[in-house]
Amino acid sequence: MPLSLYIDGARWRDHLKRTVAASPRLVPVAKGNGYGFTLASLARRAEWLGVDTICVGTYREVAQVEQRFSGSVLVLEPWRPFLDASTRSLVIHTVGRGEDLAGLAALEERPRLVLEGLTSMGRHGFTAAALAEASGAAGRRMRVEGHALHLPLGKGHLAEVEKWMAAAPARRWFLSHLEQEELDALRARHPDVEFRPRVGTGLWLGDQSALSARATVTDVHAVTSGDRVGYRQRRIAKDGYVLVVSGGTAHGIALEAPAAAASNRGRVISLARGGLEAAGRALSPYEIGGRQRWFVEPPHMQVSLVFLPAAVPPPAIGDEVKVRVRFTTTTFDAVHIS
Ligand SMILES: *Cc1c(COP(=O)(O)O)cnc(C)c1O
Repeated sequence: MPLSLYIDGARWRDHLKRTVAASPRLVPVAKGNGYGFTLASLARRAEWLGVDTICVGTYREVAQVEQRFSGSVLVLEPWRPFLDASTRSLVIHTVGRGEDLAGLAALEERPRLVLEGLTSMGRHGFTAAALAEASGAAGRRMRVEGHALHLPLGKGHLAEVEKWMAAAPARRWFLSHLEQEELDALRARHPDVEFRPRVGTGLWLGDQSALSARATVTDVHAVTSGDRVGYRQRRIAKDGYVLVVSGGTAHGIALEAPAAAASNRGRVISLARGGLEAAGRALSPYEIGGRQRWFVEPPHMQVSLVFLPAAVPPPAIGDEVKVRVRFTTTTFDAVHIS
């Protein structure tokens, strides 16, 4: 019985269209779990949006999008000699080391690539001086599609971009995690440079009102105070119901990024205080009767046990209940678009 994602299709498509219209040359990012939608579905959606390029996270993901999207596919993971890198002409590689530039040139005739700078993110890429040098060295043997920068979240990275642009000029820059106003400012200052924002979350998950995650109630058991249930045989503290609901560790239920939990206390309070904390109780993401309910014990592989007090009318077996999820860590059993 499924953990399902319901999408209000009209609202979602409208948000996607408006986002792309507001941000010229946007490059959608479709990687990992496909932000909850699956990669295949995002590839088809990108085709429908009419963009000319999408990003995937890894070379392994190219195969999941190339049948469904007719444009270019920019691979975000940097090319390395030990990766099973596709050499298809639709692929644009990301290169961040001099030896990789040479390695790629030896394998592929005029490869398409972007040269990445090592920003304050500290992930991958050339230093500014090395980027300028690589850009010159790539010459005509390779098709350099532009330079790329991956910036930390939040505002205030304009000066860093300007520094890179001055040190290693290029006609086109692929930029990740720049705010809209910062992009506007760059475009105003550099009208002859093309800026291409790479966007995932703000595009696919930017209108959460179009998205609803629901779990199926697969069983309901009346319990009395003192009963023991579950793998851990924990004692139930009050009369009520134990609900078995779809969604477990395999779906990513109760997986939260530390930052998301810290910045949004109301959304996820991972542990209760006092006695409940001592008992290892945690508030579940399942909402029944208008409130999030406590886990009876940590989620199982595919289902979770949730406690409902006796005063609340229990749902019926087969009913769906709202579940608050983090889309980038959730694998749904079913995705329905209206
Ligand atoms: C994941 C990723 C993005 C998209 O990030 P969102 O926060 O989902 O928009 C952009 N650029 C790079 C390099 C990434 O790894």
